[in-house]
Amino acid sequence: MSLNIVLFGPPGAGKGTQAQILANSLGIPQLSTGDMLRAEVADQSTLGKKVEKIMEEGGLVSDEIILDIISERLQKEDCQKGFLLDGFPRTRPQAEGLNLTLNKVGKALDYVIEIVVPKETLMSRSQLRKREAMAKGETPRPDDNPEVMEKRLQTYADQTFPILPFYKVLGIHTEVDGTLPIDKVTKDILGIIDNSEAA
Ligand code: AMP
Repeated sequence: MSLNIVLFGPPGAGKGTQAQILANSLGIPQLSTGDMLRAEVADQSTLGKKVEKIMEEGGLVSDEIILDIISERLQKEDCQKGFLLDGFPRTRPQAEGLNLTLNKVGKALDYVIEIVVPKETLMSRSQLRKREAMAKGETPRPDDNPEVMEKRLQTYADQTFPILPFYKVLGIHTEVDGTLPIDKVTKDILGIIDNSEAA
């Protein structure tokens, strides 16, 4: 049984939080392109320097860079039993590139789970995340501010949301209500996986 999962949804929907919990309970790795890119920025690697400004401004890093990172990561041994993609794919070429990469190794996606949260909630979550980081004496994410958040949401609406029909046609798309408490959202996602394994 493979568990090749995409957690889909706008910035602030809780994809990262859920991916982390699910990765632990399902024993498959969380592959977050945002985390991978932030690590490159923190290291000030050549790639990190190239993407830093784009990320701060809430733009998208090029499909070519992202597909290179993900294709390499998916070939690692720990992805054999499955993986949880978080924050990828975000554009149509990324979705197509993912399909090609998986096809080549005889794999396919099993679930695209969309975490649905309205815009107002996403805006207030972003502000809360910033205040919490500052209260803890941490540096908030540079893209956690209202202007950049607006831009990230617009990018999501323009480039990411339109990928969904592609997965709906394949019959692997389902939705969960991301405004519910974290543990309830996790339960709902695990329910989707359990139910279809039993079917
Ligand atoms: P995230 O943590 O997923 O919200 O990602 C933070 C930032 O990293 C995004 O606003 C983009 O600038 C960049 N990024 C992460 N994943 C991708 C992706 N799949 N495609 C393009 N840019 C990405």
